[in-house]
Amino acid sequence: MKEEKLALSGGPKTVGRSFPWPIFDEAEVNAVAEIIRSGEWGNPNCDGYVASFEKEFSEFCGTKYAVSCVNGSVALRLALMACGVRPGDEVIVPPYTFIATASIVMEANCVPVFADIEPDTYNLDPAAVEKAITPRTKAMIPVHFAGQACNMDALMAIARKHNLKVIEDACHAHGGEYKGKKLGSIGDAGCFSFQSSKNLTSGEGGIVITNNKEIFDLVNSLRNVGRVEGGQWYEHHNLGCNYRITQLQSVLLSHQLKRLDEQTHLRNKNGLYLNSLLEKIDGISPLKRGHGETLHTYHLYIFRYDKSKFNNLPKSEFAKMLAAEGVPSFMGYPEPLYRQPVFQKKNIFCYAIPEYVDYTNVCCPVTEKACYEEAVWIMQHAMLGTKEDMESFAEAILKIQRIVCNQLT
Ligand SMILES: *Cc1c(COP(=O)(O)O)cnc(C)c1O
Repeated sequence: MKEEKLALSGGPKTVGRSFPWPIFDEAEVNAVAEIIRSGEWGNPNCDGYVASFEKEFSEFCGTKYAVSCVNGSVALRLALMACGVRPGDEVIVPPYTFIATASIVMEANCVPVFADIEPDTYNLDPAAVEKAITPRTKAMIPVHFAGQACNMDALMAIARKHNLKVIEDACHAHGGEYKGKKLGSIGDAGCFSFQSSKNLTSGEGGIVITNNKEIFDLVNSLRNVGRVEGGQWYEHHNLGCNYRITQLQSVLLSHQLKRLDEQTHLRNKNGLYLNSLLEKIDGISPLKRGHGETLHTYHLYIFRYDKSKFNNLPKSEFAKMLAAEGVPSFMGYPEPLYRQPVFQKKNIFCYAIPEYVDYTNVCCPVTEKACYEEAVWIMQHAMLGTKEDMESFAEAILKIQRIVCNQLT
């Protein structure tokens, strides 16, 4: 029998192809070229291509309104501000997410309060949310992590009971669904990012969707230096800023949106198939498909790794080996958000965060386990591969297992 060698040690890669992202053709190139020739690159009035994309996206999501802006972080902060929070209000967030979900809360002079995630979906745990509520709590930001719907029925029920606003962080979840509704369209507002890694992208960009006219009007004003509909050019009603998106980004998004549904269904199909393959591997367990979602966007395909079945190989080493085998993958967040220096040291400059706030003793055990031991991510563009690609991802894991178990025993 031929001796096997890890790609990390110079052996052949299990996955012999690369996975392109973003995906585009002459339609995008021509549309952008036309705008370049027109000279109308920006759009200070937010009409033209900016407004048409907003209309297309709100129709796609089934909401009345959409306001685009420079990125997903700003979308989240403007949505939170438009929900009426005041300095010192508490906002419940998960600690297993990108920094922006929590940092924008501080940028709005509010206090992020971390509630743990569910062990089998990595989404905000409704029981933990309920425990985190205090008289100061005004809102929560559930993240549809990896593109899997949160338990929205339970979270919305808690929100109604305690009179909390719900801002969905749908930055992983463009086109995903929960019980037939588009993710982002269920709470008071939903926010998306169009940064280059996201499932719908224009390099950078963001958008807020809502059915609430007051939230819409305020976000619309805040992203355009406090201008209001029908007002004069140099008439500024609200403390906003210039967070406008360009026509170049908007037209690109209009074309990319036409591709989204097919891509989402393909990722979803591949995700279900990969689940069936990885379930059979000792020491690997895919996250559960929970909470009645009909469509998972697989911005990330996440599986849980058990090192005891891999000769106690640490997760970080395993993840390096897997990436070297050609699977576009990563160990994910190295630590829970509350462990980041910005929170531990409260490096928060002029933001007005109350003195009592202290993150040094926060501990969310499920998130700690996910970060330090369990979670491995496969990136969304790899989930646009073929059935055979999914089989090669499973084979790469099995190869690593064979080698590390034989070598060291
Ligand atoms: C990407 C992302 C954001 C922020 O979006 P940007 O466009 O990078 O500002 C917020 N939340 C989550 C979960 C994200 O993945």
